[in-house]
Amino acid sequence: MTNKVALITGSSRGIGAKTALLFAQRGYAIVLNYRSSYVDAENLQREIISLGVECIAVQADVSKQEDVERLFKEADKLGQLAVLVNNAGILDKQSRLEQISPERFLRVLEVNVLSCFLCTKEAIKRMSTKYGGTGGAIVNVSSAASKTGSPNEYVDYAASKGAMDTLTRGAAIELADEGIRVNGVRPALIYTDMHSLGGQADRVDRLKGNLPLKRGGTPEEVAEAIIWLATEKSSFVTGSFIDTTGGL
Ligand code: NAP
Repeated sequence: MTNKVALITGSSRGIGAKTALLFAQRGYAIVLNYRSSYVDAENLQREIISLGVECIAVQADVSKQEDVERLFKEADKLGQLAVLVNNAGILDKQSRLEQISPERFLRVLEVNVLSCFLCTKEAIKRMSTKYGGTGGAIVNVSSAASKTGSPNEYVDYAASKGAMDTLTRGAAIELADEGIRVNGVRPALIYTDMHSLGGQADRVDRLKGNLPLKRGGTPEEVAEAIIWLATEKSSFVTGSFIDTTGGL
């Protein structure tokens, strides 16, 4: 049981997958998580195992408490949880606010915020010195939308990320003297499949000219910020955010 374990929610593809790969390259045992993308998760699991580290891929809808509890019990089999990355997230078709149904609003909050709350609770039980743990790091993958509000696109998504930022600050301060650091990254316009959920697969290329750096970002660039916040190099940082936004 000497493994340092990193659990990354929503890691079958995109930012989560690249983050898992970077942690694996640094020798962490990896817990991948997905809701339905079984094939992507299995392929990534094989790639990570080929690097010589342990890796499991666990199907779990992280918006559901019973799934989250099962996910963390599976993670326990690998070793000591050192890092939790709350990355799983969704958005829905671009719409004006009055066209967003209450059901959609609640689902976005469940997947993006309730999941973060549920996973953080499980991580505290394993990491906190108050419960006999040796500490750890939690990184929440928020969005620049928490500041822009995403008008005319997905205000529900933006509100969920605002809640995530508040959760990050509160948890960071509450857990600071229990060995747990909690920080966030706030990406914008990263080349992943997420934009097709909003109905605009080409969104990054369409909007990248608005960014000071005049290009979209890569999942690897976000993963580097996550790794920094999760490891000892950032040992004096908690309750903070890195905007991986090309200057937005
Ligand atoms: P993505 O390519 O769509 O990947 C999302 C991942 O989350 C997938 O692995 C998906 O797995 C998983 N997932 C979704 N719902 C889940 C659930 N209920 N339970 C467990 N896993 C679930 O998205 P991405 O762009 O990498 O986004 C990752 C994070 O970055 C999100 O929180 C997103 O809000 C944030 N972000 C992204 C951008 C961007 O420009 N891409 C910008 C700002 C913030 P399944 O396919 O199995 O559902």
